[in-house]
Amino acid sequence: MKCSLCGREAVFYQAFTNKYLCRECFIEDVRKRIANEVKDKRMFSERDNLLLAISGGKDSFVLLDAVSHFHPSSKIIALSIVEGIPGYNRQEYIERIKKYTKERGIDTVITSIKEFVGYSLGEIVEKSREMGIELSPCTYCGSLRRRIINVYARELGADRTLTAHNLDDEVQTVFMNILRGDPERLLRQHPLSPKLSDKLVQRVKPLRKIYEYEAAFYAYLLGFKFQETECPYIIYQPTLRARIRHWLYMLEREAPGVELRILEFFDNLLLDRTNKLKELNSLPTCRICGEPTSIGRDVCKLCEMLEKAGIEPK
Ligand code: SF4
Ligand code: ZN
Ligand code: ZN
Repeated sequence: MKCSLCGREAVFYQAFTNKYLCRECFIEDVRKRIANEVKDKRMFSERDNLLLAISGGKDSFVLLDAVSHFHPSSKIIALSIVEGIPGYNRQEYIERIKKYTKERGIDTVITSIKEFVGYSLGEIVEKSREMGIELSPCTYCGSLRRRIINVYARELGADRTLTAHNLDDEVQTVFMNILRGDPERLLRQHPLSPKLSDKLVQRVKPLRKIYEYEAAFYAYLLGFKFQETECPYIIYQPTLRARIRHWLYMLEREAPGVELRILEFFDNLLLDRTNKLKELNSLPTCRICGEPTSIGRDVCKLCEMLEKAGIEPK
């Protein structure tokens, strides 16, 4: 099959546009769409200092690679957080990230959940089980990661934090927020949502229009070896997201492009005629840790979870 754009040998079928693409056209297409989304949603400008949260998966590699093609390397810091999960060795992947960022002149900061809260994720999970708490390890992991990223971003003087959530992740989150009946969260998920607390560094998601299968192929074409072993806690992932993922996957297979259309629909639906998002309440501050918390709460979810597990929040 020949590339629909330049006639070279095709390596990829882009189902949602019904195009065949060669290696070069595919890579260029992904990079261009990321850069366009950043510009279109005014995610950041050339002057901004960016903190990229790198997990070691394919998506974070694509984020790092694509953004470093249109943003000065001196204004990018990669942050990697070691969770401390038994049977999940991160050393090899950290070495790879360090090598990659060094080659590109990007500074890297490695930290861990243990450094931040005094216990590794494995230890927190163990403690919470001893206390009879049935929370998924992913809930601790996600909350701690978000907190650590924000605190580091503030300390390192970043103007934005960038996460590697892709299109599939974003659409799943849209449906999670709908099924939970949480319009406030749905609005906060919007790329034009304003900063709701002085303590929050604005978080943006440049890959939000890139399918997971595209990110995987991009990483493969560029020869990046990402962490291949799966986190052993993956079996405890909350089931609602897993069900939505499966359902969206089936829809996408039958009607390619459906996820993209859903996300664009919500992007537009939540804006008024002047292209403005409904005004949102600013976030209150947690009385324990002093970080932003959700509306109606005086103790944040993270402090609450840690306290229940018998860990003193910081
Ligand atoms: Fe964290 Fe869950 Fe992902 Fe493991 S599977 S890294 S616990 S979010
Ligand atoms: Zn081509
Ligand atoms: Zn708190």
